[in-house]
Amino acid sequence: MLLQSFIQGRWASGSGTPTALRDASTGEVIAGASSRGLDFGGALHYARSVGGPNLRRLTFHERAAILKALARHLSERKDALYQLSYATGATRADAWIDIDGGIGTLFVYASKGMKELPDSHVYVDGPVESLARSGAFLGQHIYVSLHGAAVHINAFNFPVWGMLEKLAPALLAGVPAIVKPATATAYLTERAFRQIIDSGLVPEGALQLICGDVGDLFEHLTCQDVIAFTGSAGTARKLRTHPRVLERSVRFTAETDSLNSCILAPDASAGTPEFELFVREVVREMTVKAGQKCTAIRKAMVPANQSGAVREALRAALAEVVIGNPRDASVSMGPLASLAQRGEVLGQLAKLQRESELVCGRQDELAPVDADGERGAFIVPTLLYCADPASARAVHEIEAFGPVSTVVPYDTLEQAIELARRGEGSLVSSVFSADEAVAAHLVLGLAPWHGRVLVVNRHCAADSTGHGSPLPHLVHGGPGRAGGGEEMGGIRGMLHYMQRTAVQGTPDVLSAVTGCWVRGARELDPLEHPFRKPFGALRIGDTFRSADRLVTVEDIERFAALSGDHFYAHMDEAAARSNPLFGGRVAHGYFLVAAAAGLFVDPPLGPVLANYGIDALRFIQPVRPGDRIRVRLTCKQKSLRIGQGYGEVRWDTQITNQNDETVAQYDVLTMVSERADLRAPEA
Ligand code: NAP
Repeated sequence: MLLQSFIQGRWASGSGTPTALRDASTGEVIAGASSRGLDFGGALHYARSVGGPNLRRLTFHERAAILKALARHLSERKDALYQLSYATGATRADAWIDIDGGIGTLFVYASKGMKELPDSHVYVDGPVESLARSGAFLGQHIYVSLHGAAVHINAFNFPVWGMLEKLAPALLAGVPAIVKPATATAYLTERAFRQIIDSGLVPEGALQLICGDVGDLFEHLTCQDVIAFTGSAGTARKLRTHPRVLERSVRFTAETDSLNSCILAPDASAGTPEFELFVREVVREMTVKAGQKCTAIRKAMVPANQSGAVREALRAALAEVVIGNPRDASVSMGPLASLAQRGEVLGQLAKLQRESELVCGRQDELAPVDADGERGAFIVPTLLYCADPASARAVHEIEAFGPVSTVVPYDTLEQAIELARRGEGSLVSSVFSADEAVAAHLVLGLAPWHGRVLVVNRHCAADSTGHGSPLPHLVHGGPGRAGGGEEMGGIRGMLHYMQRTAVQGTPDVLSAVTGCWVRGARELDPLEHPFRKPFGALRIGDTFRSADRLVTVEDIERFAALSGDHFYAHMDEAAARSNPLFGGRVAHGYFLVAAAAGLFVDPPLGPVLANYGIDALRFIQPVRPGDRIRVRLTCKQKSLRIGQGYGEVRWDTQITNQNDETVAQYDVLTMVSERADLRAPEA
């Protein structure tokens, strides 16, 4: 099978001799790949001129809906992917991380896109900044889609997840992508990609695929393109220093190799649940995907007085691992992805062994189930012990990208932190401790050198997602050696494909740019109360101004009786007088919010279905008995829930007193029906 690339809307084969791709267990050639002769400049142009406009025409919510439909589509067809995944050396459990993990990432981005983004094209970043006393000149940061292409270069270890975790945020951002999987396992990426294209769900030009090398693609990059790279530090260095990348300041983010550590805290001695959890996690990280995970634990750091017990426990647990052809259900660890990878790992292992002793994992004892140990890329899980980690170098510098880990003893917490930092920037570290103070100390010491820190103890172990699992909700990446990049992290991941721009202007200009009413912008005086308007008829800026209401001592006392809130500042004049902020009795803030609702709510049946919350509530000034309050309510932002028959409407709400001073401000959040016929029957 000669893999095809998908370029400029068509499947195409490269010319020349294809690279042979082999089954990791049997060594059989299962596919060939070549991209020679493909038009890479044309691919970038097509992405920018066809895919970009098609995606940018859609709102965030429409793009999120595509992600959700894609996730469903792949989910229904995942069996074919699971079958093919065995060829990469993945067990069923490994494939679950890759395939279901990838589909799950699409689902999370779809859901976040719907819930956390507006149904528009502009993402508003942070509050409006006041730049002049008059209020007539403001600043607002916005994000808009870049007009280029996302070039996604992936590693061989997660052919499906690697593609989808990058595609989800890029597509949500409205940026078309060109996917370049690692050649060794490109046949699985190609199969999943074909399913995506065949679904017809993705707009024309939004996705392209290169099976093989990228030819002269880098020569055609511009400042609107983004490269997201996952792979080795060496390749990252080469690509980020490509003259065109430097010259055009092409955005480049890298996830590279990493010497991740996990730390057994002093309280977690043998016999504690945390000790058991630590041992289980190290074994899992060594054997899942045969240790071919950028996040895998390479340094298992333990108090020196626990190192014997840890080594014994790990040795016993690793003896249970069944190595072999992952198609056999008894197998718990498959081969590496290729013989080349095995050669690489054995070479790195030899370097590590110069400074560390072997605890377990003799390669001459390899006897894989249902496979030939020579033709398949098998390797025995190997545990080392580095007795003098302070003087050693290899354990802090060499990544053996396979089932290899080293037990590293430490004496003090400071030394543990110091040894973890010697990875010079890692993706993740984990701490096993039931002592929160120790955990906090370690986390704060590790954080500057890590993109993620996981703390495990007996209370969260059953729910913990594990050391090695990057999650779509959380950032994945790390400083220094880990590449200095960042991916995912929910909506943060989408922003890597967008440009942040500071816009300055009047409130009306900012409202027009963002589609979100800004205080000080024009108020549209509707002929009818805005609560009488169905979702579609509401305009940003539609305003209701209430009559005023006198606040009395009786109001305060009745509210106290009803709510049970008898705080002295509301109830005891003498005590309240000594309060430096109030100097006398004041109304409850929550009374003001309730009274404001009484002033702006339009009671009869109408399109407003529910008030589902309040955002950014601030009490600015106290309200005293005798003050008169009134409310302004302005339609600030609308977001249609596609297919639900209603949308969310955010109302900028301001309560003022008789001197026109703001006493409270907040956003009221409502759900408003699209139906125009929701009206009380005429009397
Ligand atoms: P690699 O050799 O650096 O390859 C990574 C990707 O870069 C592959 O798609 C490769 O394509 C491509 N590539 C290589 N040279 C290129 C060039 N000159 N121009 C454009 N693309 C080029 O890394 P690997 O050996 O596949 O992956 C293993 C490494 O990746 C490990 O060190 C691991 O730690 C790291 N990794 C990191 C993460 C993370 O999220 N941080 C995740 C997984 C793996 P070809 O396959 O066609 O050469």
